[in-house]
Amino acid sequence: MAIEVVWFKRDLRTYDNPPLVEASESGKQVACIFLIEPERLDQPDSDPIHIEWELDCAIELRRELKNLGGSLEIRNEGAISAFADIHSKNVISTIRSHEETGTGWSFDRDKRVRRWCRKNGIDWVEYPSNGVIRGLRNRDKWKSSRDRRMRLELIDPPRQINGFPLGNAIPTMELLGLERRDVLHRPKPGQEAAIETLESFLTVRGESYRWAMSGPSQATIHCSRLSPYLSAGCISMRRVVQKTSARMRHLREKRSEGQDTERWLKSLSSFQSRIAWHCHFMQKLENEPTLDITAQNPLIDNNLNRELDHLKFEAWSEGRTGWPFFDACMRSLIATGWINFRMRAMLMSAASYNLWLPWRETGLYLARQFLDYEPGIHWSQVGMQSGTTGINSVRAYSVTKQGRDHDPKGAFIRSWIPELNRVPDEYIHEPWKMPASIQTESDCVIGVDYPHPIVDEASTRKEGVRMTYAARRGDEAREASKRVYDKHGSRRRPVNRKRAKELDKNQTKLF
Ligand SMILES: Cc1cc2nc3c(=O)[nH]c(=O)nc-3n(C[C@H](O)[C@H](O)[C@H](O)COP(=O)(O)OP(=O)(O)OC[C@H]3O[C@@H](n4cnc5c(N)ncnc54)[C@H](O)[C@@H]3O)c2cc1C
Repeated sequence: MAIEVVWFKRDLRTYDNPPLVEASESGKQVACIFLIEPERLDQPDSDPIHIEWELDCAIELRRELKNLGGSLEIRNEGAISAFADIHSKNVISTIRSHEETGTGWSFDRDKRVRRWCRKNGIDWVEYPSNGVIRGLRNRDKWKSSRDRRMRLELIDPPRQINGFPLGNAIPTMELLGLERRDVLHRPKPGQEAAIETLESFLTVRGESYRWAMSGPSQATIHCSRLSPYLSAGCISMRRVVQKTSARMRHLREKRSEGQDTERWLKSLSSFQSRIAWHCHFMQKLENEPTLDITAQNPLIDNNLNRELDHLKFEAWSEGRTGWPFFDACMRSLIATGWINFRMRAMLMSAASYNLWLPWRETGLYLARQFLDYEPGIHWSQVGMQSGTTGINSVRAYSVTKQGRDHDPKGAFIRSWIPELNRVPDEYIHEPWKMPASIQTESDCVIGVDYPHPIVDEASTRKEGVRMTYAARRGDEAREASKRVYDKHGSRRRPVNRKRAKELDKNQTKLF
């Protein structure tokens, strides 16, 4: 009898997984497969940090599937080749998977798989992922469609899978020819850990979220830290949305009984906006899968005419710019694979406005550092933070001011830049201003132990912003921006002035 195949992609979970449940209810034997595709490994945004994380999550999934009677084969092979091999030995009737929102290569691969399935009489059933709407024609309708999707009932794992075992071998990083990269404070992989992380955020860590999210140290504790789980699909966005709403209902009840739950409610309300942004940004790549190659607004990008200065790129990418807070953020990201939103935006802004580096190269570099790399969010954010959409206000961060605001005494800086350990607090954000005698006393001679600032921060930022606005001038550029808005812009109603000011202060009004 023919078998069903569940093709796990970025949905490494058994909870809330319709392809898995429907396959197990089909009455057929079910083979589950997860692929590390060679074509993907060749992509410039791919990094061993992503592959090892997914492998570890897939190994967890395999354990969970085994408990249900199933199994998971993890193969290092292209999709068509893997399916053709399985089909030649056991006829496949149906392949089930979630829709994937990726860059050009996965988009093209899916088209090839669709053709191959058709040719071989195999039904490939794709299921919607999170709040991304495939084939969306009109952005005006996106929010209501996404909200409807988020309200659908959560699905339990199948009670029993009539598993069809394929192979047992697990490709190791060594077999894949990939070098392991040590990641400090690496999260625990898999679905169980994802559920625990959500739970601990909603009941313990999240109370200060709204106020703590912008500082790189506080954010490590008070942000949800769900991003690597969401990008590997260890937890569904619907689950995150529904559990958050349920927790908020509970907190409102407590408030009506006289308990002070205001901080919690404010924080979770901010969190709700952000989890909606997840899907809002991914929808952009879904509608335009070339965002990693061509800017949303190519005309403005062309007008900007940024140049890849290799020395500047190296200093930026290695955290050796001579701006302490910036360097600490970059080094922390390289070591841990994560940094909070505000600091990601600052890394991009410094590259784009101060150093005038092209977004494609800096975006690729950051993609390879993020454990949570999610192409849809990433390339949309890279576009926005580099000023190449034409529809967002230009946000150029002062790295010194960010440091003073979020790390006033320099504890974060010192934890990542040992060269600055002995620099007095008053110079920690601008060590180049230290008199020579203090440089010697602090074992930090500028230009020897720690670099001079790569460029003057204030003047280059000002000039970068001026040139970016200049690139947006003219009827042609405005027309191009209007097209971008029609295709990708948020239809959120304008907020009132007081609220807008508050949002702006927190730099959170993003779209
Ligand atoms: C240049 C740049 C690149 C980025 N690349 C990625 C990426 O590759 N993968 C990724 O998951 N996020 C990316 N982000 C968005 C954001 O920084 C991360 O989602 C967030 O820092 C992850 O930590 P968290 O899960 O603790 O976030 P929380 O603040 O707890 O938010 C919960 C979830 O909401 C979503 N979210 C939060 N902020 C944003 C945002 N600004 N835009 C879209 N979704 C958001 C994410 O899914 C996140 O996991 C990028 C931001 C910038 C400025």
